[in-house]
Amino acid sequence: MASTLTNPAAIKQIMNKYDFYFKKDLGQNFLIDGNIADKIASAPLFTGDEIAVEVGPGIGALTELLCEYAKEVIAVEIDPFALNMLRDLFATTDNISFVHSDILKVDLKELLSEYLDEPEKISVVSNLPYYITSPVILKFLESGIKFKNITVMLQKEVAKRLAAKVGTKDYSSFTIAVHYYAEVEYLFDVSRNVFMPAPNVDSAVIRMVPRKTPIIDIKDEETFFKTVRAGFAMRRKTLLNCLSTGFSLSKDDVKIIMANAGIAENARAESLTMEELGKLSDCVYDHFHK
Ligand code: SAM
Repeated sequence: MASTLTNPAAIKQIMNKYDFYFKKDLGQNFLIDGNIADKIASAPLFTGDEIAVEVGPGIGALTELLCEYAKEVIAVEIDPFALNMLRDLFATTDNISFVHSDILKVDLKELLSEYLDEPEKISVVSNLPYYITSPVILKFLESGIKFKNITVMLQKEVAKRLAAKVGTKDYSSFTIAVHYYAEVEYLFDVSRNVFMPAPNVDSAVIRMVPRKTPIIDIKDEETFFKTVRAGFAMRRKTLLNCLSTGFSLSKDDVKIIMANAGIAENARAESLTMEELGKLSDCVYDHFHK
């Protein structure tokens, strides 16, 4: 299916009509390639009776297609000027609701209350505003809602971090956080040339499927995330130094914790698997609760 809201001349005409201008600080880079828009909008693999939640509809390039693929679409947009255009452009579409809000301030459980008895029928889709990529992703994952999937376009560099394997330079605390909550698939790359205005980085689309059962068994989530953040806080330093600084512990104490977890003294956080980080965080937890 092709989007009619990706044609640059049509976009300019609509923008003129509504006196709309791009706001860089809101990450407004609109898609101008109908095929790419369709690849993204169809990536959640909608079955026809599902709900799509879109973050940042902009001028509606993806929204138009989502209204075809999903039973209902809920689109959250922060920019009142974009909403002004959207409400007019979609005036005769009856399966869309626009919500004027900052996605980071939305209560997701309240927004989706009508649909939460079947969360596996809700997918999140977005060409994300790049300035809030990580907090938006974490907000959806940390909500605990078992979405069918969360399919987003984001900077290629961040997408690579999300899909990174242990031991690689892209493996980071963000990789761990996202993998803790979801299975991640790197779907495809998108050139910077299919946006108006063109950003100065390329993009990629990833699909995250929230886990139904935890990937690791840990004693305490807060200690796990604190251990991960501390471990990755200083890339050039060893895990021993990072944990000593992060938890204000003596190196001797950290050596004991690492030995209990079966981790070598000279290890670096990026060399540890999820299971090893889990074991390490359990040993940190035990140290503070003995
Ligand atoms: N979906 C459109 C497309 O693909 O062409 C526009 C995508 S554009 C990269 C990001 C959109 O997110 C813009 O419409 C912008 O106004 C909106 N946005 C920015 N910050 C937001 C926030 N905090 N909450 C909701 N929408 C936001």
